[in-house]
Amino acid sequence: MAKKQQQEFAVIGLGRFGSSLARALEENGQTVMAIDIDPQLVQSIADEVTHAAALDATNEDALRAIDITAFDTVIVAIGADFEANLITTATLKDLGVRHIICKTQSNRQKGILLRIGADKVVQPEQNSALRLAEELSLPTLLEKFNLTQSYSIAEIVLPASLNWQSLAQTDLRNKYQLTVLLIKRGDEVLISPTSDTVLQEGDLLIVFGDNQSITQFSKLP
Ligand code: ATP
Repeated sequence: MAKKQQQEFAVIGLGRFGSSLARALEENGQTVMAIDIDPQLVQSIADEVTHAAALDATNEDALRAIDITAFDTVIVAIGADFEANLITTATLKDLGVRHIICKTQSNRQKGILLRIGADKVVQPEQNSALRLAEELSLPTLLEKFNLTQSYSIAEIVLPASLNWQSLAQTDLRNKYQLTVLLIKRGDEVLISPTSDTVLQEGDLLIVFGDNQSITQFSKLP
């Protein structure tokens, strides 16, 4: 069955992450209930989201009172107080919430939240640090789209050492286990390039392969 275009989200915890997420979802046309234990924080976002409520999310009765199971997805964005995050997540699970996403700060906490039933756990600080590290250390890797944990499609600037070589000469399949899906050359897009296609300075290669190979290839001079 196709996913509904518009969904109902509850965001619990209106720190920097939770409040930005609640606002962005609402701006994207979704229905959002913003929740925090701090009434002032709830007040400050109330005009920008569909619903807002001040309550302690570790309190099962308080969650029942707002009919939390009616939401398609509940995001637990409580970072610093891990115990509150844990109790809230376990309570949401017990109540039968269909889809629970938690924000956390460490791999150890992530493992615990997944074990008690979170469907997905995000670590925004760690993720943005990893992305920035990749951006700084691999400047020719322009984009990376993860297909699975290990495989991605990436856009990489042609390493200068491969200028004027044909795809057959570069031997990317055997040397790097990479498949070139397309080549962007200025405004032109070369779809399904063949082994005779000669690479030119400034080409952008859209490749498919495992993450390690993509990293290795992006380091070529
Ligand atoms: P940031 O997103 O700013 O990095 P953070 O990860 O440090 O924040 P916290 O400040 O720990 O997150 O928590 C985010 C919000 O969660 C706070 O506004 C806090 O009031 C709220 N919060 C904490 N405990 C509860 C609870 N039991 N019920 C509802 N909200 C809570």
